[in-house]
Parts: sequence; structure tokens; C-alpha cells
Amino acid sequence: MAELAKLFENNRRWAEANLAADPQFFERLSEQQSPKYLWIGCSDSRVPANHILGLKPGEVFVHRNVANLVVHTDMSCLSVLQFAVEVLKVEHVIVCGHYGCGGVDAACGTRQYGLIDNWLRNIKDIYVRHRDELEQIADMKQRRDRLCELNVVEQVKHVCQTTIVQNAWTSGQPLSVHGLIYGLHDGLLRDLAVRISGAKQLEEVYRFKMGEAAE
Ligand code: ZN
Repeated sequence: MAELAKLFENNRRWAEANLAADPQFFERLSEQQSPKYLWIGCSDSRVPANHILGLKPGEVFVHRNVANLVVHTDMSCLSVLQFAVEVLKVEHVIVCGHYGCGGVDAACGTRQYGLIDNWLRNIKDIYVRHRDELEQIADMKQRRDRLCELNVVEQVKHVCQTTIVQNAWTSGQPLSVHGLIYGLHDGLLRDLAVRISGAKQLEEVYRFKMGEAAE
């Protein structure tokens, strides 16, 4: 365990500091969590949700994967979304990408990285969908940054296309889905202005009616 000694030491100090500021902090948190936000972000170690948002334990529910994707067959992400919306009743789902995303960069190229290439295929599909716009941007870094933004916009739609989010809207639960992007170079979040708060903002084929039986 010697390799992890530093981490245990950090953890002990962190717990002590929290208790010094609020003696009931952990006791209260252990009873329940009531976060208002679900964060769907990239696994990149430079984009830690709580730190960036200045939120304490208990204040944001988090799902992270490579390149912050919401894939409609990914049971892990969908399970997090369902729990966050139906049980925790979060009011905001935040999909947050970041400029300089390694997953997006890899998806722009032709080099093989192994299993992950199949995951990154989702981003290649977005590239192809927006190829006209992207290939007008001559600077490769700017082109990739734009793809990082477009990826977030597409994932916001994917969140809204789920029955989970649409059933919440139908039952009157307040729930907004936002798309943000983070700058590794300046530590700042930017709002991509793709807030969706109702099924009317979706293309018709993606809308579901609650309880509508097959004919
Ligand atoms: Zn990333």
C-alpha cells in the first residue's frame, strides 16, 4: 500500500479539514444526497466536475466517459441518467465537453488505438454529419475545437431523445439539459446555448408519447 500512502495522507487531511469547517458534514451526507445537477463529462483528468463547478460532495451527480458521449445503447450512462432524473430528481443535466479532447482528436485521424476506436466511431459520425462546416475551417486545431463543440450539441440531443428525459417532461418535472464546453487553457466554462427543456424542441421522430401502446 506504500504506493498509495500519499493518497491516504491527502484523504485524511481533506476529511479533517471538512470536519473542522462543519462537524456534521459527513454524518449529514451519509444520510442522503440531493444534487440538483447531473454532469456528463469527459474522463480526462484535467476536467474534474466538482472542482470546476466549485461544488462540494453531494451537490453534483457525475458520469464521465471518454469524450463525454451519450450513446443510446450504453447501459451505464442510461442508468446514471435514469437514477439522476427519476430518483434524485435533478433539475439540470449538463453535458460538458472540453477543447483539446484527446478522444475527439483521435476520432479525427485514421490511426488505430484498439477497442476504443469503436467508441470513438460515434464522433466520426458527427464529423461526417458536419463535414461541410468543419472542412471550411483550415486551421486543424480550430477545426477540432469546433468538433468538440458540435459533439456536445449532439450529446445534448441524445440525452433529450431518451424516454427517461421525455417522461420527466411529460409528467411536469422541471428538467433542463445544457451543453457546456471547458477550456483547459483558462479553466473557464462556456455555454454553448443549446438548452433544451421540452420535447417540442426535438425533431418529431424522436418524440415519445407516454403510455402509447403498439398497434
Ligand atoms: Zn476529453
